[in-house]
Amino acid sequence: MGKSQRVAGRRNIGIMAHIDAGKTTTSERILYYTGLIRKLGEVHDGTATMDWMVQEQERGITITSAAVTCQWQDHHITIIDTPGHVDFTLEVERSLRVLDGAVAVFDSVHGVEPQSEMVWKQADRYGVPRIAFMNKLDRVGADFSTAMQSMKEKLGAVTAAIQFPLGEEQEFWGITDLITMEIVTFAGDDGSEVKRSADLSVLTSSEREAIEDAREQLLDILTAGDDALLDRYISGHEISADQLRQALRQQTLALKVVPVLCGSALKNKGIQLLLEAIIHYLPAPEDVERVVGFHPADESKKIELVRDPEEMFSALIFKMAGDTFAGMLLYIRIYSGEIRVGQSLFNPRTSQRVRVQSMVRMRASDRDKITHAVAGDIVALVGLKGSYQTGDTLCQEGRKILFESLYVAEPVMTAAIECESTSDGAKLDKALKRLAMEDPSFRVEEDPETGQTVIKGMGELHLEVMIDRLAREFQVKTQMGSPQVSYRETIAGEGVFKKTVQREVASAKQWVSLSARIYSRSYDNPSASLEIAGGSITMTGDHDQPKVSFEDLPQSTREALTAGFDDGAQAGPLLGYPVIGVGIELREMGVDKDHHEDSLLRFAAAQLLRDALRELSPQVLEPTMCVQVFVPEGYGSHVLTDLKSRGAAVESIQIEKGGEQSICSVVPLKKVFGYAKDLRSITQGRAQYSMHFHGYQPQ
Ligand code: GDP
Ligand code: MG
Repeated sequence: MGKSQRVAGRRNIGIMAHIDAGKTTTSERILYYTGLIRKLGEVHDGTATMDWMVQEQERGITITSAAVTCQWQDHHITIIDTPGHVDFTLEVERSLRVLDGAVAVFDSVHGVEPQSEMVWKQADRYGVPRIAFMNKLDRVGADFSTAMQSMKEKLGAVTAAIQFPLGEEQEFWGITDLITMEIVTFAGDDGSEVKRSADLSVLTSSEREAIEDAREQLLDILTAGDDALLDRYISGHEISADQLRQALRQQTLALKVVPVLCGSALKNKGIQLLLEAIIHYLPAPEDVERVVGFHPADESKKIELVRDPEEMFSALIFKMAGDTFAGMLLYIRIYSGEIRVGQSLFNPRTSQRVRVQSMVRMRASDRDKITHAVAGDIVALVGLKGSYQTGDTLCQEGRKILFESLYVAEPVMTAAIECESTSDGAKLDKALKRLAMEDPSFRVEEDPETGQTVIKGMGELHLEVMIDRLAREFQVKTQMGSPQVSYRETIAGEGVFKKTVQREVASAKQWVSLSARIYSRSYDNPSASLEIAGGSITMTGDHDQPKVSFEDLPQSTREALTAGFDDGAQAGPLLGYPVIGVGIELREMGVDKDHHEDSLLRFAAAQLLRDALRELSPQVLEPTMCVQVFVPEGYGSHVLTDLKSRGAAVESIQIEKGGEQSICSVVPLKKVFGYAKDLRSITQGRAQYSMHFHGYQPQ
């Protein structure tokens, strides 16, 4: 222990949830019980999705900053904001990168909803240990065990209920702690008096039976993954609460089990137990494996670090946010080493060296100035000079490391905007630059033909949020033109293509000749839209040489070829949209040994690909959205008819307990413009929906 003890007692967590599951209410209660805010707000029921956006911002409580740190039983808990709307996939990705564990909040009326499914799978990919909080147990139709069952079915999670709710729906009055076998109630106006009682005789016999069953199931799960515990259990020894917690902690950290809790954030029930569970079962920074980065000069070289203050300094900028008083705040997660005000840092992407001027730890609406932070901390740097991007690494100049940058999806929607008042032009430019820096999936460009300012993002809501932020945070009122879809192009066939190019430089002839098989491949994952590979490349004119693979080529050659193929994929042959879903297998490469230049290689690669794309049955692809609508009884058929008129492929219709329907469908992006407004008028504002980018399909 020793050194690492300094970072013990910390938890960096995210709260993830489907929209409306109660993330805001739960976070707010956490801040309230830990003393960071003094008053509880109210979110009213039945708000439509679009109102959520305004509401979230107008309420301005809870987590308006990217990370807040609160304290519970001598532990620092930092809550990293994860967005409620999956339009902002990038934000989900980046928060998953910097948190160590997560609380998944579910609405126990609905159980697992598709949006949570997506975030859950992302968390699986990042290996983030989780606990689940079944919220809203006070609602009509709430059902703890069915909701938990849906975690098994839809998420494939091994769940371990560590609590059992007492009283159903409006009668929900308390929680049995299955670890200690105590009844826990929450007294006082604000539920702040936690009372524990081991006297189960106040319960009905069927309740006691259900609790015994639930405890039995918990023991079954825990002993199945822990031999020592199993031995104790079989031999009839008493198993203490601490032993159970320890076993559960181990299995949660190993991603084998998800502890499940219950409660009602709105009715102030269960939050203090959730805080305890965060400390008991979610990882401290040093529980998480080593950090892996790359050598900045050669990304094929891995560098591993220990998450330790004694290690060299390394951190990732995961969020940037403008602040009216302090200028730009750079939120960093420190993975290793320590940092002091006055110290120099290095940004390997820009090769800039900067001095830390000032540093803060965020606490709800205010902040603590600090002078020192260590591995495991999440803090914000204030007023740092130089230029940054979300996803940049910060390290020491003498010992460089680069973390993998965040995967940024290409925007799927664009819209022209202009200021309402022409005098605001400069202000708008500045504000847009700042927004784009904070959020790399939001882009700003000038239309070369019309000279208009064009913004690009991950959906209509994303763009609307930006317009809203321009007005609120930067006091620039703008008008947005109708949003346009960003299409892609792909190919359907395959073939082998050759290209020879030559040029004369200072009367010396240079030439390059390439041959490659170009084929269509899946475009499901647009981040790897162009795949370049080559198992065996013949080096022309050098037949004695054994064939080489693409990876064997010198780095500068590989880079030139990759850049060339990227150039060739920038604009497709049909409408000039970026090309995705293309594979390139290099077959032959001939270069003038004495003088060839990488620029010529790049040019040849681009030309070869352009020729090939024209020949191989090019197609236009359009983006599609996954749209999920919740409709109260009686409106389902209207919503379905409307969806079908938009060309929706309906994937599932589920009838929820209260008669509510949940309709999942995939709809072309161009057909969902203005959906919020239309849905409101079809259902008199009684439906809710969420949507996120789904993929591309041939138009
Ligand atoms: P978010 O979208 O996940 O941030 O959800 P909110 O916290 O904004 O809550 C959505 C709605 O559900 C609001 O109207 C809340 O008042 C309500 N809500 C949140 N928690 C509970 C709960 O435990 N019980 C009930 N009945 N309603 C809740
Ligand atoms: Mg919210």
